[in-house]
Amino acid sequence: MSTPTPSTVEGLRDHAHAALRAVGATVPDGSGLIARSPIVGESLFGLRADTPGDVGRAVAEAADTFAEWRARPAPARGELVRVLGELLREHRSDLADLITIEVGKIRSEALGEVQEMIDVCEFAVGLSRQLHGRTIASERPGHRLAETWHPLGVVGVISAFNFPAAVWSWNTAIALVCGDTVVWKPSELTPLTSIAAAHLLDRAIERVGAPAAVHRLVLADRLGGERLVDDPRVALVSATGSTRMGQQVGPRVAARFGKSLLELGGNNATVVTPSADLDLALQGIVFAAAGTAGQRCTSLRRLIVHHTVADELVDRLVAVYGRLPIGDPFVEDTLVGPLVDERAGEAMAAALERAQADGGKVVAGGGRREYGGGVYAEPAIVRMPAQTDVVREETFAPILYVLTYDAFEEAVALHNDVPQGLSSSIFTRDQQEAERFLAADGSDCGIANVNIGTSGAEIGGAFGGEKATGGGRESGSDSWKAYMRRATNTINYSGNLTLAQNVSFLT
Ligand code: NAD
Repeated sequence: MSTPTPSTVEGLRDHAHAALRAVGATVPDGSGLIARSPIVGESLFGLRADTPGDVGRAVAEAADTFAEWRARPAPARGELVRVLGELLREHRSDLADLITIEVGKIRSEALGEVQEMIDVCEFAVGLSRQLHGRTIASERPGHRLAETWHPLGVVGVISAFNFPAAVWSWNTAIALVCGDTVVWKPSELTPLTSIAAAHLLDRAIERVGAPAAVHRLVLADRLGGERLVDDPRVALVSATGSTRMGQQVGPRVAARFGKSLLELGGNNATVVTPSADLDLALQGIVFAAAGTAGQRCTSLRRLIVHHTVADELVDRLVAVYGRLPIGDPFVEDTLVGPLVDERAGEAMAAALERAQADGGKVVAGGGRREYGGGVYAEPAIVRMPAQTDVVREETFAPILYVLTYDAFEEAVALHNDVPQGLSSSIFTRDQQEAERFLAADGSDCGIANVNIGTSGAEIGGAFGGEKATGGGRESGSDSWKAYMRRATNTINYSGNLTLAQNVSFLT
């Protein structure tokens, strides 16, 4: 296994400055927030944080700009997003550098995150010419029923550390073409990435002559997020993060009759049946479970494998885990970077302890390597006798719990017996099993895949999950509808006033 090497605090600081300079952004000096890198576990520099008052001002500016932005034809709004996509292409590498510095993602995954941003911009540009309503058969002669869609207003975007830029772009590209304005509060762990991404949008705004306040970035901690959540001028709060955060945000937004779109924690599982192609399963499982150091909402956390193939699959997984290059994500061969912070390392250790107390056996990894103050976890595989409480919780670290089953129904029952409902998959060559997994009484998740892992979704589909994952959908398909309001129109061209349901009311 490789050992973490060459990044230094000074080197990362220079690297971050260079990337920010390349996009044209500057860091607001100050002391309210700290930009740090999990690669070395040290702070790089202090930044000025926005106060709750600043958040209120940002919302006011975005709210004041809404009427002007809404009045622009949607394809003209799409032009702004097209230029943003162009700038993202141009600065793909700079933004990826900042993602690696702040999150610790390996280069290929950081570049993939920026690619996802470019993809969603392209999707949104196409969408800007396709925002459509329906015409519905009316029960009355000489009447037409129609649906029209209108922008909502200000969209507040609260995002998590692990996709520090892509989640913003999923929301912002779509919200902007829909005619909304956006205020973004990124994770306090990733201020530099958000400064760079927001600056690229500022440049696009300038280039196309859009109003400056169609978007605002606020750098703040949870209190800044709460200010956004409680502001009645924020029509939609799109919040991505832990289920704990969603439990706080959802009721607060609902109490003021705002709309919310919640993208929360997952506890994703893969079922491996006796007919599965184990080579394929192995690749899909390792990427989903150990990739991004287990820090994706779609990371694979539970492996539900038929008892006849369990030993072979686990042995092969243990062998691959033993060779996983763990270390500095800037080193070319590294596949597993650091955990985001010490707290994540402690949460992993505590979960492993609980799993063992429940009778679990750690068959791979679970140790820790330290480099500077960085927390490098060895991805763990734990064979469990049952799906105990710790397995049913999301631990945001690379732990893969292995459970075995006999009958297919048992696999589906185990699969669904967790509070979360984000992503799921099955490896099988039996079409009946595949279809049963995708059927209404199969996987209860928002994402259900066949012969592919749980993580790494494309932007063309709707992304999100059920139950404690929050129920929101973002990105592709018709997710745009969450960013607009629907009006039902009844148009009478008959010259007679006919009432619905044959009601008679003659005056
Ligand atoms: P987190 O919940 O700690 O923080 C997420 C964001 O919410 C941050 O910007 C934070 O400042 C803000 N926040 C926290 N409490 C708040 C409150 N009461 N009011 C307003 N804002 C508040 O999550 P994290 O550690 O940054 O990210 C990891 C979590 O996010 C995991 O649970 C992961 O599964 C989840 N996640 C989900 C998705 C998805 O699409 N479903 C995507 C990425 C991450």
